[in-house]
Amino acid sequence: MTRPIAAALNVVMLGPPGAGKGTQAERFARTHGLPKISTGDILREAVTTGTDLGRAAKATMDRGELIGDEVMIGIVGERLARPDTERGFVLDGFPRTVTQATALDGLIDGRGPLVVVDIVVPEEVLLRRLAARRICGSCGVNAPIEWTTTCGVCNGELVTRTDDGVGIVRERLKVYHLQTAPIVNFYSGRPTFRKIDGNQPPDQVTTLMDKAICQASAVSNGARL
Ligand SMILES: [Zn+2]
Repeated sequence: MTRPIAAALNVVMLGPPGAGKGTQAERFARTHGLPKISTGDILREAVTTGTDLGRAAKATMDRGELIGDEVMIGIVGERLARPDTERGFVLDGFPRTVTQATALDGLIDGRGPLVVVDIVVPEEVLLRRLAARRICGSCGVNAPIEWTTTCGVCNGELVTRTDDGVGIVRERLKVYHLQTAPIVNFYSGRPTFRKIDGNQPPDQVTTLMDKAICQASAVSNGARL
């Protein structure tokens, strides 16, 4: 059950593709009335609204390059400066590097603890899930588990993705772990770091995650960390 939380609830979600991170981030944000901030969304928004950072990001993407730490940190910093994040936020897709993680600590300095959740799922389960992943046949959006047969955006028919061969998926997971291991290291010694067993039904993961985050946040506030 959710309880009102006095201090800000600042959450970072980590987890490999197929772990259900996006869905869980969405659910947690909704139950606690917090903005879910995904870097994909804010990048698109920054590009659309044409801010300086948005233009810099677009130029980089147009060249087919990855967005550097400085631009990413700037864009997330702008987003976290908005008043709707005062009571907290759920970050999905940031930080991706230790430089970004260090910058995030600075960005939220004095704004309450940062709870970091790592959703852990065995690789063979991820491979199975990713092979069965569905997208909308019309608009191409990834279908969350809640959608049974039709797309929640355009009502199109859901289809199973067939382009993700096992080899490609395995490679994506390897890249994910290589990139994320330093960040997990960066956070794992903190009393507000929580590993969540993501190898169970989504509703159970939601309950477990809710408990873990609220407990980590309460402990940390009590200890004045
Ligand atoms: Zn659709």
